[in-house]
Parts: sequence; C-alpha cells; structure tokens
Amino acid sequence: MPEHDVVIVGAGPAGLTAAIYAGRSRVKTLVIEMMMPGGWMAVTDTLENYPGVGTVKGAELAQRMAEQAKGFGAEIVTGSVSSVETGGEGLAAVVGGERHAARAVIVASGTNYRKLGVPGEVELAGRGVSYCATCDGPFYKGEEIAVVGGGDSALQEALYLTEFASKVYLIHRRDEFRAVPILAERVAESGRIECLCSNVVERINGTDGVDSVDIRSTKTDEARTLPVSGVFLFVGLEPRTEFLGDTVETDDRGFVLTGQDMKTNVRGLLAAGDCRSKLLRQVSTAVGDGATAAFTARQFLEDGEW
Ligand code: NAP
Repeated sequence: MPEHDVVIVGAGPAGLTAAIYAGRSRVKTLVIEMMMPGGWMAVTDTLENYPGVGTVKGAELAQRMAEQAKGFGAEIVTGSVSSVETGGEGLAAVVGGERHAARAVIVASGTNYRKLGVPGEVELAGRGVSYCATCDGPFYKGEEIAVVGGGDSALQEALYLTEFASKVYLIHRRDEFRAVPILAERVAESGRIECLCSNVVERINGTDGVDSVDIRSTKTDEARTLPVSGVFLFVGLEPRTEFLGDTVETDDRGFVLTGQDMKTNVRGLLAAGDCRSKLLRQVSTAVGDGATAAFTARQFLEDGEW
C-alpha cells in the first residue's frame, strides 16, 4: 500500500484547501511545498477581494490556511518535486530521489512570473530588477522606480510601491489596462504614479544596479530614458508544471487541462488552482478548485472510478 492516500504538490490556496478538505475526510495527506506555504498569496501585501474577511494580509491568510490544514491532520513538508511518477509502480511525487507514493496526487503547483525578455533583465535580476514588490519594495524608500505591466498584479503592486517610492512610472504596452477598474481608478488618483501607456521597455540599464530604463512609444515611436533605480516586472504568469513532463495534457501555454471535477487525463492525478487551464486566477477560485479536487480524490479512493 502507498504511504499516503493523497500527496498534494504545492501549498498555495488550492493545495492548502485540498489539504483541509482531505484532512476532514480522514484521508492521509502529505503536502509538499517548495518554499513557504501560501504561494503568491503569501507575498501579496493585502487582499481585499477574498469574501468575508475584509482586508487581510496575504501572509496572515496563508499562515491561517496552513494551520487549519495541519489541524485536520495534513503533514506539510518542504521540498522541490522533480517528477510525478504515474506508471506501473503507481503514483508518486519524487523529491531529490525520494519517492512519496500515494493513491492520488493533486498538482497545485501554481505559477512562475513571466520574463519580459529585454536586455538587462537577467543581468540585473536581484540588483534592481524584481518580480516581488513585498520582498523588495522597502529598498526603494524615496526613490523613483518603474513598474511594467497592465494587469491586476502590475497595478496592485504599483499602488503598494507608492508606500516607499517617491514616484512610480507605470509602463504598459497598450492604452487600456487589463486590470479591474477599481485598481485603475486608484492608480489615477494616487498622485505618485505616472502612467506611460502605449510604451514598451527596450532595455534596462546599469552595471551594479539599475540606473535607468529605455522605453519607446508604440504610437509616436518617441524614445525616452527614465532615471529609475528599480524595475518591477509584472507581465503575466506561466504554469509551474515542468516536473510533469509530457504525460499530462495541457493547453498551448502549458496549463494543465482538467474536467470540472479536477481530474486530468492520467488516472489518479488531479490539478487545482493557478496551474490549471482556467478563466480566472484568484485566491477565491483556487480555493474552490482545491475543495473540488479533494472531494474527487476521496471519491476515487473509495470507488476506484476514473
Ligand atoms: P495578466 O493578467 O496576464 O497581465 C499581464 C500584463 O502584462 C498584461 O497587461 C499584458 O499586456 C502585459 N504583458 C504581457 N507580456 C508582455 C510583454 N512581453 N511586454 C509588455 N507587457 C506584457 O497577469 P497578472 O497581472 O500577473 O495577473 C495574473 C492573474 O492573477 C490574473 O488572473 C489576475 O486577475 C490575478 N491577480 C489578481 C489580483 C487581485 O485580485 N487583486 C492581483 C494580482 C493578480 P496586455 O494587457 O497588453 O496583454
């Protein structure tokens, strides 16, 4: 018999919710998390759209979810899953050569940030180029910085960064934001954010740190150099699913395809949360996926039907 009933890969809101539901079903559950519980939620300063809790710190909600999962018996360990075995030996998540065998595996591994792909980005990563405002924002007290992107992440993080920076240039390639209108309204009212829509970043300049960023207007072709000491990139997310190899069906961007029951094409393997092909990536939708995945996994453990 496998050591665990269910192994959950990832302890973001989808994985932790699956662990809470599995634990309450008395399903023996192991959660494997790469860094710390919470995923992107844990490095989001505040959430204001998770129903019923008002405004809450992302790290606090992550902590509460993890404690709740442990309270129902889930074991949470740290490790980087290198593969998920789905062949004749049964299902197992592999961490550094160690097999964690299970009767079902729920992949809730979330996403990585997408790279912008301009000169200077890789060279200056961690030295002025950042993908995490809560991690690096406090280093830019009183300085001018740039944020790139036009989605919820870019606008939310630009607003957060005004707590530190004296000025934030918000650079977006189109003239309309993708983000929800309430964030666009707050950006317009902020007084510290200068929107540079219809502009693309061509290069990030600097040697030991960022000195400036070169941008170009897509409308007038005018080039400008903005003197900034930090550049925060929020240009979308990519699925963190490379450890699945090519056994699992994905969409053309690599997000895992599932039914509404969270089953993948591989018997015993489910997916939940942001790594799944879906319309809306929010904490609230991840939580729903996690609950459904645990419910389906329990049914599978009971009747073996797939
Ligand atoms: P996103 O919604 O995919 O937006 C990415 C942004 O980056 C878009 O504005 C896109 O421009 C731009 N972009 C992409 N590639 C680019 C490139 N090569 N050069 C310049 N710009 C580029 O990603 P996200 O903002 O990280 O959000 C991801 C998911 O998390 C979404 O579902 C979002 O709703 C959710 N989220 C929610 C909250 C919240 O509820 N408060 C907060 C953060 C994230 P175009 O618009 O032109 O495509």
